[in-house]
Amino acid sequence: MGDRWYVEVDRGVCIGSGMCVNHAPAGFTLDSARQSHPAAAETDASEPVLAAAEGCPVEAIAITLLGTGEAVFPPEE
Ligand code: SF4
Repeated sequence: MGDRWYVEVDRGVCIGSGMCVNHAPAGFTLDSARQSHPAAAETDASEPVLAAAEGCPVEAIAITLLGTGEAVFPPEE
């Protein structure tokens, strides 16, 4: 079975660039205030979602492994 991820967007940090929606249209939506929301907080591990987190210009997207809480992105220092 593949990894399951927990995805969070820090809306205090999100600047509404929409990059995450471009990378992962199924993974994120922008609300009317141009704040990003994960389509589902819990998701199967997904290259587009990881690309969205990596591509966010302000690192507002955090991904952890469901269950262990281990950091997927940003990686632990
Ligand atoms: S890429 Fe980052 S800053 Fe841009 S909308 Fe998504 S979460 Fe917000």
